[in-house]
Amino acid sequence: TITRRLWDARPAISFEFMPPRDDVGEAVLWEALEGLEPLRPDFVSVTYGAGGSSQDRTLRITQEISRRTSLTAMAHLTCVSQSVSDLRQVLQGYAAAGIDHVLALRGDPPGDPRGEWVAHPGGLSHADELVRLIGETGGFEVGVAAFPDVHPSSASLADDIDTLVRKADAGATFAITQMVFDVDSYLRLRDALAARRDLPVVPGLMPVTSVKQVDRMAQLMGTPLPERVLERLRPVQNDRAAVRAVGVEIATELASRLLAEGAPGLHFITMNRSTATLEVHENLAGQLAAASRPVEAITR
Ligand code: FAD
Repeated sequence: TITRRLWDARPAISFEFMPPRDDVGEAVLWEALEGLEPLRPDFVSVTYGAGGSSQDRTLRITQEISRRTSLTAMAHLTCVSQSVSDLRQVLQGYAAAGIDHVLALRGDPPGDPRGEWVAHPGGLSHADELVRLIGETGGFEVGVAAFPDVHPSSASLADDIDTLVRKADAGATFAITQMVFDVDSYLRLRDALAARRDLPVVPGLMPVTSVKQVDRMAQLMGTPLPERVLERLRPVQNDRAAVRAVGVEIATELASRLLAEGAPGLHFITMNRSTATLEVHENLAGQLAAASRPVEAITR
């Protein structure tokens, strides 16, 4: 299970997947899972979309991962377009499927992710309320989102820290960040939060395999990629193999520094592919082994 003990024992490795849209996508997902399972990640997670059918797929895929593999699977959940009773129903579905880890998110406005957030009339406005609702339901370990480059609708890092404090006080036991491309931003967030709450903040990491894809994601996130990252990718952007190689190199450098700085884990955003993540993981093997702490040293 994903508990405090896990973060204290070693840098926890986790992989994020998306519910596939169709049979072809599903085959691609299972291939990625089979490729990554031998790394024995501490957990994997499945994202939650804005629409009904994709939300059902999150439940089904998370359940199937638990059933067909040895992996601990966490389902994401957002407040988008759902009333409190809808959310309770989803949680009941998760519980009935044996899913006991949830990443509790507000979600982005459907349609225009950078548009104004409007809560469902019978729903929730912020992720801290969802964390509390999940706590009332009982039986779940709950994680939340964090934003090293500051959430686009927050006024400042201090605002984001207040939000994380609220989410921790509501019952969240860990946070996972938006993909990190600037380690210093991650460290600022982690250290500012550490002064107020003891909540492991796990950096998200995406090995870039396509400049177009990462550009689109950065736009959705509302945070452009740092220029020093772009200037390494742009010269090779029309050469797929070269982009992958540079993407793996950048992710390895980021991960290596994150581990050296004591990050409690690495959460890989896989885009349902395995090879780039496998390569980064292999590059880090020595450092990951060295960063494991002996069980006797765990105080909690
Ligand atoms: P919140 O914590 O509610 O914060 C949203 C904004 O409101 C912030 O500006 C915050 O400072 C402010 N705020 C929060 N609480 C309060 C309060 N009580 N009073 C006033 N202001 C407040 N999206 C999906 O749709 N599906 C996914 O599966 C998904 N997975 C993600 C995984 C990770 C690791 C991350 C980092 C993000 C993920 N997202 C996902 C995106 C996420 O839903 C959006 O970034 C969303 O805009 C913010 O979600 P949140 O949970 O951080 O919201």
